[in-house]
Amino acid sequence: MRDFEPDWIVGLGGCSAIDAAKMMWVFYEYPDADFEAMTKPFTVPTLRQKAKFVAIPSTSGTGTETTGLAVITDREKGVKYPIVSYELTPDIAIVDGEICASMPAHITSNTGLDALTHCVEAYVSNIEDNYADVLAKGGLEIVFQNLEEAVNNPGNIKARQNMHDASFMGGLAFNNAWLGIVHSLSHQVGALYGIPHGAANAIFLPNVIRYNQTATSRYPDLAKIVGRTSAEELAQEIEKLRASVNNIGSLKAFGISREDWEKNLDFISKNALEDPCTGFNPRKPTLQDLKDLYNASFEGDIYQN
Ligand SMILES: [Zn+2]
Repeated sequence: MRDFEPDWIVGLGGCSAIDAAKMMWVFYEYPDADFEAMTKPFTVPTLRQKAKFVAIPSTSGTGTETTGLAVITDREKGVKYPIVSYELTPDIAIVDGEICASMPAHITSNTGLDALTHCVEAYVSNIEDNYADVLAKGGLEIVFQNLEEAVNNPGNIKARQNMHDASFMGGLAFNNAWLGIVHSLSHQVGALYGIPHGAANAIFLPNVIRYNQTATSRYPDLAKIVGRTSAEELAQEIEKLRASVNNIGSLKAFGISREDWEKNLDFISKNALEDPCTGFNPRKPTLQDLKDLYNASFEGDIYQN
């Protein structure tokens, strides 16, 4: 990039590819930028001194094509860093569902459940935003109506486009209202155990709904969209959708031993507490709350308040 000196940077691919391009953009404009320092939210220096950014996503989940977020994993430390700054929001997003036609079923499933998680977390976050609310509700409805079809009939371009739109809408929603502890919990197991982001979110989401429901009365609004009434029923509908697109409901199914889990539990719980997403969660968790949520989701148990 430094040799070629582009005026435009095109991030094309899955979320990690686009996020990597976003950070390359930062280092292209600021070769001496300090990565560690930028892990503090909203500290990325002013971009567009040298180039603008186009994002063309080939997966339908993270919404990175419209968000000020880049998630970078430090595999040596076992930590995922969400770099948060509106500077990182792409100038142009090309949201073309046909690009997703060859996306494998398990990635369609994982990324689609990530989009769903964005809609739910943005809707209940402690930032009130009417625009985010509408986008989150609309995105959630589209995921429930199209994800199974996109997984089972990969050539159905209409379903692909719908899921691509839902991902974009989820991204727009959380770019305004931000996320919550599903993402805080999920970032850690993604970094340490390589569990795909959407798959991890889908494991935590129902239990986080159960945990958060004492602090927010907003889940029933989302339950209504799927024909149910309560927070618990929303959690159950998400578990049904998760199963219908062949995603699993426990962390231990990813082959993590109990011994290894117990060894790392303190480390991941502390990192989850410090994750930037935790501050936007409707219920303020303690370290012990996060450990309890981790343990319930490790076993695939239902979290009890
Ligand atoms: Zn996500």
